[in-house]
Amino acid sequence: MDVNKIRKDFPVLNRKVNGRPLIYFDNAATSQTPKQVINTIVDYYENYNANIHRGVHALSQEATNAYEGARQKIQYHFNAAHPYEMIFTSGTTHAINIVSSGYTELLNQGDELIVSALEHHSNIVPWQMLCKKTGALLKVIPMNEDGDLIMDAYDELLSDRTKLVFVNHVSNALGTVNPIEEIINKAHAVGAEVLIDGAQASPHIKTDLQALNVDYYVTSAHKICGPTGIGILYGKETSLKRLPPYQGGGEMIAEVTFEKTTYADLPHKFEAGTPNIAGGIAFGAALDYVNSIGMEYIAEYEKELLIYATAALKKIPGLKVYGVSPNKTAVISFNVKGIHPYDIGSILDKLGVAVRTGHHCAQPIMDFYKIPGTVRASFSFYNTFEEIDAMVKAVEKAAQMLQ
Ligand SMILES: *Cc1c(COP(=O)(O)O)cnc(C)c1O
Repeated sequence: MDVNKIRKDFPVLNRKVNGRPLIYFDNAATSQTPKQVINTIVDYYENYNANIHRGVHALSQEATNAYEGARQKIQYHFNAAHPYEMIFTSGTTHAINIVSSGYTELLNQGDELIVSALEHHSNIVPWQMLCKKTGALLKVIPMNEDGDLIMDAYDELLSDRTKLVFVNHVSNALGTVNPIEEIINKAHAVGAEVLIDGAQASPHIKTDLQALNVDYYVTSAHKICGPTGIGILYGKETSLKRLPPYQGGGEMIAEVTFEKTTYADLPHKFEAGTPNIAGGIAFGAALDYVNSIGMEYIAEYEKELLIYATAALKKIPGLKVYGVSPNKTAVISFNVKGIHPYDIGSILDKLGVAVRTGHHCAQPIMDFYKIPGTVRASFSFYNTFEEIDAMVKAVEKAAQMLQ
């Protein structure tokens, strides 16, 4: 694979920021979009924009076929058993809220839920709201200094009171890849269901949902070269059938009278209203794109970028990397002693380098390390070793200016 050839697919990588070539290292927040995906969106609006499922006319049928075709691509990519187990959502946050809201009717006072210390706020707050409504209790799997979960503590939290466990596949703040197979198997052994937040894993790891035997898996298209505002809730057929619907409206019903409404079959039960049609089709195109490069190639290449950047950054005096698990994706969270992360981020921006600074929607992790936040550089398969050299120089410069 030729990274320079890949880069030509991403128009935004040609632009300058503050007079310098853009170096985009904020991929964990959102990835850039290749022209193949952009063209798919333009093609939809220029040639067959129509509402899906309800129309007999040609455009509506073309749009329906493309949208349902995308659902099938997503099913194949994640190896789910059925297309109707893939529910289109507006993203990871929406998907988690569908499950947490449905669980309101499935829990009793004193039931227990287990979360991990490494979560994004979107996999914490909906469950806290659920606990408040139901009287269920939230237990937390703790983390260690390296940024790994303490699995012995997980064993002790599990019991026949545990109803649901929700953990991210990969931490967005530290890059830790969690041992989700073990987490899933142990939860199932006590009769609990498991939801995995895959938002940070999908861009880097190919996930086989049937092999994992997970109950729910959620992710967003915009972190894997797709557009914003579209994502997936995967649920096992049995789980989705048990889960009450989240929103009422058109498209999600079988029959409506003023006395009673019966719900439509999957996936429509969870898809009320007109969806993000172009977004769904473009999500399919984004998966075609990354598969044309190859998920295994992507993982290998990004690992090289991670090793290279970690070694170079660690040579900077006073620089500390947070999250040093042996199982990591290409995310480096760091601070330079005595300097606020925001100040480093601002200087990097002036030099054309886009990184994220702050708590990364994971305040409990920052509290654990007793820091206000970190500088986070996150890499993608379209980044280069030269860009890393430029970032390291920019961090050195920032450190000299600010220390
Ligand atoms: C980005 C991210 C989310 C939130 O995704 P949205 O697309 O904003 O809904 C949740 N969890 C993790 C681990 C993430 O990286």
